[in-house]
Amino acid sequence: MGYKGRSMSPCRLTPLLLLLVLLNAGSALAQDKGSVNPKPLPPLANPNDPKLGAKELFARKLLPSTGPAHVIGSYVKGCIGGAAQMPLNGENWQVMRLSRNRNWGHPDMIALIKRLAAKAHKDAGWPGILVGDIGQPRGGPALSGHASHQIGLDADIWLTPMPDHRLSREEREETSAVMMVREDRLDIDPNVFTPGHVLVLRDAAQEPAVQRIFVNPAIKKALCREAKGDRSWLSKIRPWWGHDYHFHIRMRCPPGAGECQSQPSQSEDEGCKPSDLAYWFSDSVLHPKPPPTPPKPKPPMTLAQMPAACKAVLRAPDAKP
Ligand SMILES: [Zn+2]
Repeated sequence: MGYKGRSMSPCRLTPLLLLLVLLNAGSALAQDKGSVNPKPLPPLANPNDPKLGAKELFARKLLPSTGPAHVIGSYVKGCIGGAAQMPLNGENWQVMRLSRNRNWGHPDMIALIKRLAAKAHKDAGWPGILVGDIGQPRGGPALSGHASHQIGLDADIWLTPMPDHRLSREEREETSAVMMVREDRLDIDPNVFTPGHVLVLRDAAQEPAVQRIFVNPAIKKALCREAKGDRSWLSKIRPWWGHDYHFHIRMRCPPGAGECQSQPSQSEDEGCKPSDLAYWFSDSVLHPKPPPTPPKPKPPMTLAQMPAACKAVLRAPDAKP
């Protein structure tokens, strides 16, 4: 029900456009490798150019703004002041792709990931979680990879369990995540997708502040088949494009965050009926045909198109590192 509703999507890209983005990006986005010595972005010739993409401005902020956490706007058009940093290492987690500098988020999100890492270890014997992109220090649109992740309330968690050692800087940039989906895309690969994955996803979905979790449709199908006992959490697990290697946690707007633009809550239905999933396994979705003429890329979102308060977030002084 509504499982393909665009308003629910982690991004506003149309399926077709998303496909092109994915194709252009080569392999899946989470697979992009980084560098141990990333080159700093060059200064902007004209930062006040009204046509400049806001992503150019947000990507150049290396630290959050000072002050308490302040969420402004929506998951796909917004920013965050006073973001917190996910520490690079914990007993049950490690942050990946440090060169991206996207381990910043709302303090509630940072606390949630730490809690999830400990819980997954306890419940599923999960060795620990590998943390992918949360957001930029001040949120906002990014130069690559996501349409959402703009307000510190989205986080990507790798489906690859944490290795048994402290990863080096190189390993964090170079290691590829494991593909969980079978080659025909109709189901998970049982050699890599384990009962532990079901428990980790359940633990994440059972967090009251988590509103949605995006996974590949084959993973949703597997969870529907494998989930035992209380299955109410399945309603939060949404099939979506990509997400073959990671799952995406989206938190609700925090209480009292008046400028955070929330999404409607989804139905409480498990979403496990064959009719709920049929769309995702239809031929046109599994084997999409490229359009005869590629659609023109849209101009990037400008700062003027974003909530006005994001200007102040960009201008605010750096928080102390
Ligand atoms: Zn994501």
